[in-house]
Amino acid sequence: ARRAGRATYSFFAEEMNARITSYRIRIDDIRRGIANQEFVLEYQPRFDTHDRRVLSVEALVRWLHPEKGLVGPGEFIDLAERSGLIIPLGEWILNTACRTIAAQPHDIGVSVNISPVQFRGGTLLDTVEKALARSGLAAERLELEITESVLLDNPDEIRPILQRIKSLGVRLAIDDFGTGHSSLSYLRSFPFDVIKIDRQFISDMVVQDGGRAIVHAILSLGKALGLGVIAEGVETEQQFEMLASDECKEVQGFLLARPMPAPDLGKFLDRSPIVSGR
Ligand code: C2E
Ligand code: CA
Ligand code: CA
Ligand code: CA
Repeated sequence: ARRAGRATYSFFAEEMNARITSYRIRIDDIRRGIANQEFVLEYQPRFDTHDRRVLSVEALVRWLHPEKGLVGPGEFIDLAERSGLIIPLGEWILNTACRTIAAQPHDIGVSVNISPVQFRGGTLLDTVEKALARSGLAAERLELEITESVLLDNPDEIRPILQRIKSLGVRLAIDDFGTGHSSLSYLRSFPFDVIKIDRQFISDMVVQDGGRAIVHAILSLGKALGLGVIAEGVETEQQFEMLASDECKEVQGFLLARPMPAPDLGKFLDRSPIVSGR
């Protein structure tokens, strides 16, 4: 009995150690986290380049994990997608983002990231309609951010879903633009309103020969196609100034504001000189 006791003790000691060094998130954790309402949203403002007023915010999910503390989406979105749990989680994200932004007094928009898997569930249109109806947020104030990979997956199924969502009045943005491999004419066959230039191009802009030329080309393309263009990951004044002089209308990044919890966003907007919305 004594031996067994000692063996048990060392087993636990080892397990505890493993937990500290590499806690592995499991599907059951995510399921429990959703049920226990451990997920939270942060909001990162997006600014008008000319007068630095806040036009909208991007909702970004985090997990207030009981053991790990604050966990970023990079650590759980992939597993949530593979397990299908992104469907209920994504529904919660849409509802919460719409409700939070509708409840504050400023006329700003909100962008929500949509995972490719949410298109496969067959419920996305319904989920978006319900989030708008329940929150009372005008459809024109909601934007969905979708990466190119979604479109490559299953274009003929996704196109009509996007068209129906757009016909509600919701805006559609291509996230991480330039990182995928789809052709421009192909992208053009989807009803997008906005191109979001990937952060990598913004950082290359100041450090690499030709970096600025690429950003410039994307901006010209947006203009020619009548699409809005936003630059993400703007971290320095130099990047900001280049984007402003290249007539990029909208910017987002640590230089101007980090993602913040809803109560801080309220204070941030109250303090901002002008927040007249879109
Ligand atoms: P993303 O959609 O490209 O989001 C932008 C990421 O860049 C965010 O990281 C944001 O915090 C970070 N960021 C913003 N400004 C700067 C900057 O100036 N410099 C740098 N270095 N980073 C900046 P986060 O919140 O960790 O999200 C990572 C990714 O996780 C997102 O990339 C998105 O793909 C995914 N994600 C986040 N929230 C959601 C969500 O609610 N639903 C889904 N499906 N995916 C989400
Ligand atoms: Ca995004
Ligand atoms: Ca992005
Ligand atoms: Ca990204």
